Amino acid sequence: VGDDPASEVYVRTKKRTAEDLGIASDDRHLAASAGASEIGAVLDGWNQDPSVHGVLLQLPLPAGLDAAALLARIDPEKDVDGFHPMNAGRLMLGLEGFVPATPLGVSVLLARSGVDVEGKLVVIVGRSSIVGRPLANLLSLRRKGLNATVILCHSGTRDLASLTTQAEILVAATGRPRLIRGSMVRPGAVVVDVGVNRVKDAGPKGYRIEGDVCFDEVLETAAAITPVPGGVGPMTVAMLHANTLLAAERACERTSSPSPR
Ligand code: NDP
Repeated sequence: VGDDPASEVYVRTKKRTAEDLGIASDDRHLAASAGASEIGAVLDGWNQDPSVHGVLLQLPLPAGLDAAALLARIDPEKDVDGFHPMNAGRLMLGLEGFVPATPLGVSVLLARSGVDVEGKLVVIVGRSSIVGRPLANLLSLRRKGLNATVILCHSGTRDLASLTTQAEILVAATGRPRLIRGSMVRPGAVVVDVGVNRVKDAGPKGYRIEGDVCFDEVLETAAAITPVPGGVGPMTVAMLHANTLLAAERACERTSSPSPR
């Protein structure tokens, strides 16, 4: 909905990747002036269409629209972004549902890179309901391969550096370019930079993409750090499609039709 330039890039990437994977995708681009009832009608149509297994609403929405109300309109069984309150609640309770793609991507990225989070002190900076908070819920689940001790920081945190310097694993998801300086990172820590920030630049595009972490400074002391772009971003797209496949499999189980694999 609307013309957010970053959203246009994300939607294009998701569509291209879906095509590569053999997942059919359809997108409906509505004008910034679209009202909640118009958006809701599109969501309802996909909710009711049995050939659709996953539905997402690209955020941010133009000012004046109630994103939470519209996200809650998506069928929880098709909510592959995991933003529906039902799925947020399931994650918090450790029940089966859909985990939002970025937190899921961070946990899979750590696991597949051989970084064990069990028992580790993880400090997450940023408590949004799409990244920081679900990641804290996920990593602290009492489950093999998770089971971390998590500190969740935000703009009201007093003396942020006193916490980040304790982190064995530090995750930055603030939307503040280069907020995390080298001096804020414990030597030997693993650093995951979720931030994707457009910063004005004299180059041909007029901007460049920067993370929330001072990559050059942190590289000196960290055991590992994810690059921006190219770290968490592609994992997010991959996990969105993994969730879509999961949604399709669950739909097939409910109707006892053959699995899509
Ligand atoms: P939000 O703006 O929703 O949340 C930012 C969080 O950071 C808030 O909790 C805020 O605190 C906290 N924060 C802001 N400034 C500070 C500070 N100085 N010290 C401590 N905490 C601070 O952002 P999102 O979670 O949506 O996104 C965060 C970043 O991740 C963005 O750059 C976004 O583009 C990127 N992103 C990347 C994705 C990917 O796939 N790579 C996917 C989603 C997001 P408070 O709550 O107090 O305001």
